[in-house]
Amino acid sequence: METSPLSPKSQERKDEREIICVVCPNSCRLTVWKDSEDKVQITGNQCARGLAYGENEYLHPVRMVITTMRIEDAPFPVIPVRSKEPIPKDLIFQAIKIINKNKCRSPIKVGDILIENILDTKINIIASRSMA
Ligand code: SF4
Repeated sequence: METSPLSPKSQERKDEREIICVVCPNSCRLTVWKDSEDKVQITGNQCARGLAYGENEYLHPVRMVITTMRIEDAPFPVIPVRSKEPIPKDLIFQAIKIINKNKCRSPIKVGDILIENILDTKINIIASRSMA
């Protein structure tokens, strides 16, 4: 059977990136790009979960914020904190700056909300441990 060759336009690859899929221990190396119609194309995945991960990571990458916040009246000067959920990757630096400017006061219980709705993301910064 004969197949027609792909047109140069359909072979076009814009913003090509390599992304390691972290959904399972296989760590597949995905190649992700936009075609001439701006559709996201992915190769290198071994399953559908990798397709979803690759597309999300390419279009809307997110990360957990994990850092420390100053604490008063506690045995240590800082307490470990994290975002309750991942936030957009391009807001991480700003989020850490805000957390570093803030301080809390003991006693703090693990999961206590220390900053609400950081950077209007609807995501809270919470304590990662208790501190009396
Ligand atoms: S593409 Fe599928 S098999 Fe490969 S790492 Fe991701 S989830 Fe695992």
